[in-house]
Amino acid sequence: MEGDIKKDLIKLYREEFGKAPDIVTSAPGRINLIGEHTDYNQGYVLPIAIDRRTFTAAGKRGGELFIAFSKELGKKTSFEILPGKFEHTNFWVNYIKGACNLLSAQKTIEGTNFAIGSTVPRGSGLSSSAAYVVSIIEAVAYLYGVGLKDIEVPILAQRIENEFIGVQSGIMDPFVAKFAREGSALLIDTKTLEYQYISIPKDCSILVCVTGVKRAIATTEYNKRRQQCQEAGASLSRILGKEVTSLRDVSINELRNAEGEMDRVLYMRALHVVTENDRVVKTSAALMNGNKEFVGDMMLESHMSLCSNFQVSGPELDAYVDIAEPLDGVYGARMTGAGFGGSAICLVDSEAENELAKRIEREYKRRGYENGYVFIARTGCGSRLEKS
Ligand code: ADP
Ligand code: MG
Repeated sequence: MEGDIKKDLIKLYREEFGKAPDIVTSAPGRINLIGEHTDYNQGYVLPIAIDRRTFTAAGKRGGELFIAFSKELGKKTSFEILPGKFEHTNFWVNYIKGACNLLSAQKTIEGTNFAIGSTVPRGSGLSSSAAYVVSIIEAVAYLYGVGLKDIEVPILAQRIENEFIGVQSGIMDPFVAKFAREGSALLIDTKTLEYQYISIPKDCSILVCVTGVKRAIATTEYNKRRQQCQEAGASLSRILGKEVTSLRDVSINELRNAEGEMDRVLYMRALHVVTENDRVVKTSAALMNGNKEFVGDMMLESHMSLCSNFQVSGPELDAYVDIAEPLDGVYGARMTGAGFGGSAICLVDSEAENELAKRIEREYKRRGYENGYVFIARTGCGSRLEKS
């Protein structure tokens, strides 16, 4: 399927711009197996790239005009890269502007044509934005010979979402979009940016359960959670009498001892983050030992904590977990991504993957959620040059 997308995109680029692209890059969407809302607290995360990718075909045009076409949005637009100018109508173009702006600090970036094609569902918690922005950064960097170190790619991508899009997202999504490997999850320590590949047992599969909703409050609530985590850290710093730069610096015992003196909501937020970090470490060890049952238990605990302590789940995500958990062949289920809609994931026995995918989707729809669907995700690899 991905091969076809690339061919179609090159054809489309030719039709739109009258010649072949100079370069094609791609980057994957992801699920996060466990470690939710920990990346902006300098904690651990365990994402997996999936076999859904975003492709960017690009070519130099010279001058100052940029033209971009998104196949999925069915939109083509031209613009100039003027610092500080935000596009309200064509919101998606701001990612390209951000990439060109930041890269132009290192090399002159001239007018460029872009065509974008993708199989990553947008706004579904599968990080289409990181797949998109990482493929754009790499296309522009290759095209103009900006010598980026690998680690600079996710850092730039995060800056673009933070500074040009206005989402205070963490490093996880662009990091996995850059560094992922097929067959593995990526254990990332977001404090040091050290990472490790953790093989996924071959006899289990991941089902992605798309809720079909994205709540309008998602971005505001996300930014609010970040703020609350910071406040929890400051409060713990005072109570414990030690420097707490992030919730990563707090142990579960310290947190429990501080409970009586903390604001209730801030305590609950911190409780999620601190216990979730612990779950990521335990889940990684269990994966290495092939202990899928334990991984499943950790997934469910994570979901419960996101639901009651961090309060970022919702009826649709809870419905998927409720449906999947009791079924034979399901090791575990949880929401993935920031929450408030988006997607849930299930870790299942590969032999039953098709039957389980159908059954879970059928039951979800029967509960009245018409726009949901379930697909089997294979693991994918990080960003790559597809054609030069
Ligand atoms: P998620 O990352 O969970 O899919 P976001 O809201 O962070 O959701 O990102 C979705 C946004 O990313 C879209 O609204 C659009 O601006 C941009 N985007 C993602 N994929 C594409 C694409 N193929 N073409 C154009 N813009 C895209
Ligand atoms: Mg995103």
